Amino acid sequence: MLEHVRGNDDDGTGRLRLRFDPALRLFLAARDRGGQCVVAHDGTSSLGHVVQSLGVPLTEVGALTADGREVGAGHRPRDGETIRVTAVPRPQPLPGPPRFLLDVHLGALARRLRLVGVDTAYHNDRADDALVAQANAERRVLLTQDRGLLRRRALWCGAYVRGARADEQLTDVLTRFAPPLAPWTRCTACNGELAPVAKAEVDHLLRPGTRRTYQAFTRCRRCGRVYWPGAHHDRLEAVVAAARRAATPRRPPPAQRISAAADTPPLPGHRRPGRRPPR
Ligand SMILES: [Zn+2]
Repeated sequence: MLEHVRGNDDDGTGRLRLRFDPALRLFLAARDRGGQCVVAHDGTSSLGHVVQSLGVPLTEVGALTADGREVGAGHRPRDGETIRVTAVPRPQPLPGPPRFLLDVHLGALARRLRLVGVDTAYHNDRADDALVAQANAERRVLLTQDRGLLRRRALWCGAYVRGARADEQLTDVLTRFAPPLAPWTRCTACNGELAPVAKAEVDHLLRPGTRRTYQAFTRCRRCGRVYWPGAHHDRLEAVVAAARRAATPRRPPPAQRISAAADTPPLPGHRRPGRRPPR
């Protein structure tokens, strides 16, 4: 159905020439990384199918043009057309408030998003079908590094997360969706909202050293976990400051705490899921 044509012998018959934005080239096969592909075309496949067959998820695609005319993914290209494929705009508008569901291998990113107050659902043991069902039911954007998952027709909205390290991934998500930040307002363990709590109410939960040292506490409304600015606080502040810079690159505000600080567990201590290697 779809066959790569090598070389420069394209005569426009039964072939399409596709040009990809630089931001999309990481998805292309090594031989296509220059951003131009010529493919044989059967005249019946949709443009969306052609683009995805080359490795580019449609969730990452902005506008499509055929010979300069804007078309949709359902467009059936004619022989010899030149297709231009642009990347999704940044920030990308969403149909509702920015809420996310993360794939099982993105636990470290989930903690960081919650740390800066972004509504982030995450479980380290969800199968693909369950991820799609939850994303659709709760109108959450599914974030993943699994291109196969993004090709699911049933998925209402998804995005590919760029970067190998969680810090890079956080910057990618913040620059892509520009969610409002509210650091120190969410439980990094369960995504629940934090509320200030009197020390006397949580006194019995604290170790003696913590009880002696700290006065300001917050507690998760959902799971009851208690937070205070503890030993890892400087590192978490650095994550928050980097997130603020990513969210507002031209106008970096001072990294001020909005509420009492979150602490344990340390960010790198997330559990590693074993279900599936990243694809
Ligand atoms: Zn919680």
